[in-house]
Amino acid sequence: MRTPVRSAAALATTLVATLVCLAVPASAGPIAEGGPVGGPNGVDQGDFQMPFPCGQVWGASTHADHPAVDWNGVGPAAGDRDEGLPVLAGLGGTVLEVGPHRGYGDRVVVDHGDGWASLYAHLSAITVEVGERVTAATQVGNVGNTGSSGGPHLHWEQRYLGQPVPVLWAAGAPITTTYGSPGPTYTSQNCPPRAFGVSFVPAPRGAAPGPTSAKR
Ligand SMILES: [Zn+2]
Repeated sequence: MRTPVRSAAALATTLVATLVCLAVPASAGPIAEGGPVGGPNGVDQGDFQMPFPCGQVWGASTHADHPAVDWNGVGPAAGDRDEGLPVLAGLGGTVLEVGPHRGYGDRVVVDHGDGWASLYAHLSAITVEVGERVTAATQVGNVGNTGSSGGPHLHWEQRYLGQPVPVLWAAGAPITTTYGSPGPTYTSQNCPPRAFGVSFVPAPRGAAPGPTSAKR
């Protein structure tokens, strides 16, 4: 339909409002603080598990203007001794990107569906390929020190609609970080089979098992 003529200011206001709406869906009020927000496949931030094997303990740090958790090893994995340890997907999905990218060094991006993705950076090795389906417990690479990194650690981002969210979640709760490393410690609950639950494209209810649909 034809829109009435408006003043430039009104038009600008409308454009800004439109952009804001694109970036933050109506149901995404809690996103600034983290929290379950998702779409029709039932994927939300509360589904993420830590990107490390069940039972491992890691420290969560960050720094200013840095919407990510920098995971550092503690105890026997403190200092540089976390280099080479396995990095898991933390949530089921499809590998979207792999390889070096700017300061991230070698990184992996996994698309979890319903607007959610995650990024794993500074890896010393990558163990998945683009298009590969992963579960929460699938190894995507190894902790490393590639790109702009001051020592081995895992830079982990959770992204919603393409943007890193400021507060990351694991095991159904927000992750508290400090600016000092290693930060508050967390124990991975990425424990099969519970963490295997979310698939990228769930089969319709009652559908017979068969070939999966083409990758998107
Ligand atoms: Zn980082």
